[in-house]
Amino acid sequence: MSGEPLLPPVQGAEGALFDTLRKVFGFHEFRPNQESIVRAILEKRDVFAVMPTGGGKSLCYQLPAMLLPGTCVVISPLIALMKDQVDGARANGIRAECLNSSLDAEERQRVIGALLSNSLDLLYVSPERFTLDHFREMLRRVQISMAVIDEAHCISEWGHDFRPDYLALSDLVTIFPDLPVAAFTATATHRVQQDILQKLALRTPFIVRASFDRPNLVYDVRYKERGDQQLVSLLKSNRGKAGIIYRTSRKSVNDTAAMLQAKGFRVLPYHAGLGDLERKRNQEAFIRDEVDVMVATIAFGMGIDKSNIRFVIHADLPKSIENYYQETGRAGRDGEGAHCTLLFAQGDSSKVRFFIDAMVDETERARALASLQKVIAFASTSVCRRKTLLDYFGEHYPHENCNSCDICLGVREVVDCTLQAQMLLSAIVRTEERFGATHLVDIVTGSANKKIRDLGHDRLKTYGVGKQHDKKYWRHLIDELLAQQVIEKSEGLYPLLFLLPKAVRILKHEEHIEMVRVLEKQKAKVVSDGESGTSYDKGLFDLLRVLRKQIADEQGIPPYVVFSDRTLHEMASLVPRNAEAMLSVSGVGEVKLERYGRQFLSLIDRYCSDHPAAGV
Ligand code: ADP
Ligand code: ZN
Repeated sequence: MSGEPLLPPVQGAEGALFDTLRKVFGFHEFRPNQESIVRAILEKRDVFAVMPTGGGKSLCYQLPAMLLPGTCVVISPLIALMKDQVDGARANGIRAECLNSSLDAEERQRVIGALLSNSLDLLYVSPERFTLDHFREMLRRVQISMAVIDEAHCISEWGHDFRPDYLALSDLVTIFPDLPVAAFTATATHRVQQDILQKLALRTPFIVRASFDRPNLVYDVRYKERGDQQLVSLLKSNRGKAGIIYRTSRKSVNDTAAMLQAKGFRVLPYHAGLGDLERKRNQEAFIRDEVDVMVATIAFGMGIDKSNIRFVIHADLPKSIENYYQETGRAGRDGEGAHCTLLFAQGDSSKVRFFIDAMVDETERARALASLQKVIAFASTSVCRRKTLLDYFGEHYPHENCNSCDICLGVREVVDCTLQAQMLLSAIVRTEERFGATHLVDIVTGSANKKIRDLGHDRLKTYGVGKQHDKKYWRHLIDELLAQQVIEKSEGLYPLLFLLPKAVRILKHEEHIEMVRVLEKQKAKVVSDGESGTSYDKGLFDLLRVLRKQIADEQGIPPYVVFSDRTLHEMASLVPRNAEAMLSVSGVGEVKLERYGRQFLSLIDRYCSDHPAAGV
């Protein structure tokens, strides 16, 4: 991009801080930690910051990049991420480019030309490029404002995405002895943090470890009964919104995607088994709001910056709490409400167990098992989900009630079910541990089917004792007894249920057992709580979205780069009628106002004349 910088570089940048925040980014306040990081950089200090996804890391260096003279060099590991960042920055009028292997010779020359003529605010490069001698030589010939390392955990062998080429970044501080170096990541344990600090040799850096809490995400764990039906109803209540459904296997991804497509939902599959082209096409369709939902294995998500993902559903058990946090973390980057649902059935854990048991490496097997157990504990306890998640990352959640998880919203209650458990256990004893769940449920509910009669099970003392509850209840109880290790299932196609020592203690009245019950009425509340907190005109919002999509297509950028969901929500709530009012909407800066303001204002005009009540 060429032309004059939007704002002249300011030496004593302090005064321009809020001005730039407003004019360039269109924001009226900083998110937590952003201001202190920006200030540290402006004071030429090194920075190391761990901030969760959606925390607003890009602004922490893009804002100083606009205030300091010279080009800010950002080292970033993924080409897809770079492209997104460049699109986003340019939409705000920032002169941003990237240099990586995806460029052809001509484009590369153009970018290098812009760099050499000192007309770039931001340059994104891959770590490979950064190590090349001639690139470094070039950097010496131009004015550089600062260096940024994105996804800084890639430099640590202790981290989960170690990239050997990141090690070459350890001489950054010697290349830029007088410039601030800022490293950002969304994941770093204390050990990884120490490793990063040491490898990069940052000079008494300003360190930020932000809370991992994502207050705009609602966590909701549901008992998985009929997976497909539940998915359909979840999608119905989220119609038109962007979401991801995670499944474990490629086959289940294909099946679920086909099932949902047949029901008329706009979904596409994504997994490593699809050809490169198809995968790329599907991902692109999702990013550009051409389909609403991606049904995917965990291969999907890395490098996806889409900020308007409104829900994430785990239709199978995640591999670990860390995975769960990362995968749900892709929702609600724009700060607007988003809903994370985990469909949990005890049966799923035996499936995962089956794969884990087949692992050859003993340490890996043990690690996988421990991870699975933590996930099961997360899903089955009646402790606040947020608290449990944060605990896992060593963070103490200071509130009693988070008000945005199924537990805290009181969607569940814990009930004593010792008596019912005794009925079922006694049916198992009386049939000598030779039957599976379906038959046992038939006995306690008093089914009069042929098998029951042929075996004479209608004469058992436990026959029909549990009539007052339906079959669904008893299936749930069996899952609960399996989860709490009261009973166990045999291997094979028709697994039989048998007792574990705890069952004997329950039968002898030596031990109680409790079960979590879902209160149907309040379930709906959690769903609607995923919505944005502020009320807005939904009819107007839908039209704004159509216009956003149209503009995005014309310009070949993703819709959320034009305006985020949050910005459109605010427009549909404030209903701005002139340029000044438009500028007060969060996310509308001067450049976006100039580029898109007229179109959006005239749409709002038309809407208001058709709907005289709007905006009053
Ligand atoms: P991260 O890289 O930490 O995941 P991003 O930099 O992508 O986060 O920012 C996430 C979203 O938050 C983007 O849509 C961005 O425009 C928005 N955002 C960042 N800072 C602010 C702010 N101060 N006020 C409002 N929205 C912000
Ligand atoms: Zn909670």
